Amino acid sequence: MRQTPLPWRPTTTSQNNETSTFDVVVAGAGFAGLYLLHRLRKQGLRARAFETGGDVGGTWYWNRYPGARCDVQSVDYSYSFDPDLEVEWTWSEKYATQPEILRYLQHVADKHDLRRDISFNAKIESAV
Ligand SMILES: Cc1cc2nc3c(=O)[nH]c(=O)nc-3n(C[C@H](O)[C@H](O)[C@H](O)COP(=O)(O)OP(=O)(O)OC[C@H]3O[C@@H](n4cnc5c(N)ncnc54)[C@H](O)[C@@H]3O)c2cc1C
Repeated sequence: MRQTPLPWRPTTTSQNNETSTFDVVVAGAGFAGLYLLHRLRKQGLRARAFETGGDVGGTWYWNRYPGARCDVQSVDYSYSFDPDLEVEWTWSEKYATQPEILRYLQHVADKHDLRRDISFNAKIESAV
């Protein structure tokens, strides 16, 4: 439920000749976009993310070269907003590889049903 009046006006988007209105539009479905979408939902806001790629993951969706992995420890390179998630997800390596990080983000999207508010293969071309 929305608790305070919005300090901004709702945003109208136009995609494939269809017009929709949201409180917030999120650019991208990487670590930041997924968390932002989750937070906005919790605040009762109408939010939609638009992602150029075909699925969630951002950096970890696009960068699939051999050997790609994080350089901070996997446990530190994880969300902390969901205590259950921290318990149910076990990293197989101290510094996770790209495929595992991508699986993690897909798991987060599944668990919180985030994809229903994300348009994939959709680039935000302008904002006014
Ligand atoms: C090999 C590698 C290792 C890394 N290791 C670490 C690490 O150990 N620790 C660390 O903190 N960081 C690391 N990073 C940095 C990493 O990019 C960030 O940690 C994090 O993934 C960034 O998330 P983000 O959601 O901010 O952006 P991104 O993951 O870049 O996601 C942005 C998304 O927005 C989409 N997008 C952009 N513009 C538009 C538009 N106009 N319309 C629609 N969609 C759009 C893009 O397609 C993209 O999917 C690493 C990066 C790489 C490549």
